[in-house]
Amino acid sequence: MAARYDVLIVGGGIAGLSLASALAGRCSVVLVEAEQELAYHTSSRSARQLIPSYGPPVVQELTVRTLELLAARDAELPEPVLTPRSFMLIGSEAEVAAEASGHMQPITVERALELCPALKPGTFAAAGLDTGSFGCNAPLLLDEHRKRALAAGADIVTGARVHSAQRLGSGWQVGAGAEGFEVGVLVNAAGAWADELAVLSGVEKLGLQPYRRTAAIAAVERPLPAATPMVAAADNTFYFRPDGRDVLISPSETVPSGPEDARPRPGDVERLVEKLNAFTSLGITAVRRAWTGLRTEAADGIPVAGFDAEAAGFYWLAGQGGYGFQTSSALAEFAASQILAGQDPSGGTASFGGAADGPVSRTAQALAATRWSIRR
Ligand SMILES: Cc1cc2nc3c(=O)[nH]c(=O)nc-3n(C[C@H](O)[C@H](O)[C@H](O)COP(=O)(O)OP(=O)(O)OC[C@H]3O[C@@H](n4cnc5c(N)ncnc54)[C@H](O)[C@@H]3O)c2cc1C
Repeated sequence: MAARYDVLIVGGGIAGLSLASALAGRCSVVLVEAEQELAYHTSSRSARQLIPSYGPPVVQELTVRTLELLAARDAELPEPVLTPRSFMLIGSEAEVAAEASGHMQPITVERALELCPALKPGTFAAAGLDTGSFGCNAPLLLDEHRKRALAAGADIVTGARVHSAQRLGSGWQVGAGAEGFEVGVLVNAAGAWADELAVLSGVEKLGLQPYRRTAAIAAVERPLPAATPMVAAADNTFYFRPDGRDVLISPSETVPSGPEDARPRPGDVERLVEKLNAFTSLGITAVRRAWTGLRTEAADGIPVAGFDAEAAGFYWLAGQGGYGFQTSSALAEFAASQILAGQDPSGGTASFGGAADGPVSRTAQALAATRWSIRR
């Protein structure tokens, strides 16, 4: 017999787990994950940095709200999820000027060299600094969401890939692994597989595109002091930040991919090491481990959160791109309020709980709720 829940969330990454913890205790929730472990895919492969000046204005708003929510949560935890770590952008005058607004302020090259003495003078002409940026203990955050969801009565089923989903009366009948579910709302938090899940549910896909991004942990001759900002090239050719005595490095590539268990390609990390050894005095001696994840984006680069305009009870929580952690709590707060309020056929933003100028309404306005014109 099929198990009944108000909401079934597909995907046990940061998106699905944040929503499960926001919804649990307010309705009956089950989260299903295809892999044997939670957060096996992109959510265990990030650079763990939350940067208010990064991304389009909508993303910046979602990041500021996420930081507020995480800071409030940190006050209750024995160990904090957030640790202050500035973000510094370097490049040409024009590149940095284009980014240096709002949370990112221009700084002199001399100041940039003071903040990160590993940079070689003469390799960049301008710099900007975002002092409101934080490092994020991603494993702790993911586990906190899992524990909260379970403590508030949600169920989590791993090793259960959703293989069928169809409309049944006013809800959905879902097959996952060997199990069957009857649910009111089906949430698509399937990351790089979000379009595939839509298709198998008979819902028109959005044209979400996964892009590869590789990162690695490198041993260095001269470790960065812990307070060194994360440093990124404004032309998107690398970033690095301290990781204990090691350094986290990335070639910042954006290469289209299908949904898959992505792995680094030969040469990607080697070329990056060569470049960083020319650009900095880090002295990279070895690569301890390297990985690749998929950053999945909608055509306009803005996360998709909302009920599908045509498929009743089908909720999208996808397309977070390179901002999945920094937007996670704001998106979960917004999605939970929409789901609890029920489907809003007007696609309007007024009924999602709280005051018209409250945080959820601001998120709704920023996201313009259901902008289905992104379908491609
Ligand atoms: C190198 C790199 C660095 C990054 N750095 C940052 C950063 O510093 N800050 C930041 O905010 N973001 C960063 N990101 C982006 C961030 O990691 C992602 O936006 C986020 O992890 C996406 O989470 P998700 O839950 O949507 O997807 P995922 O973590 O991929 O989770 C989706 C889950 O759905 C499951 N699934 C799919 N189909 C099915 C199905 N049919 N049935 C059941 N389960 C299914 C998958 O198995 C998967 O576990 C980075 C990404 C990369 C690759």
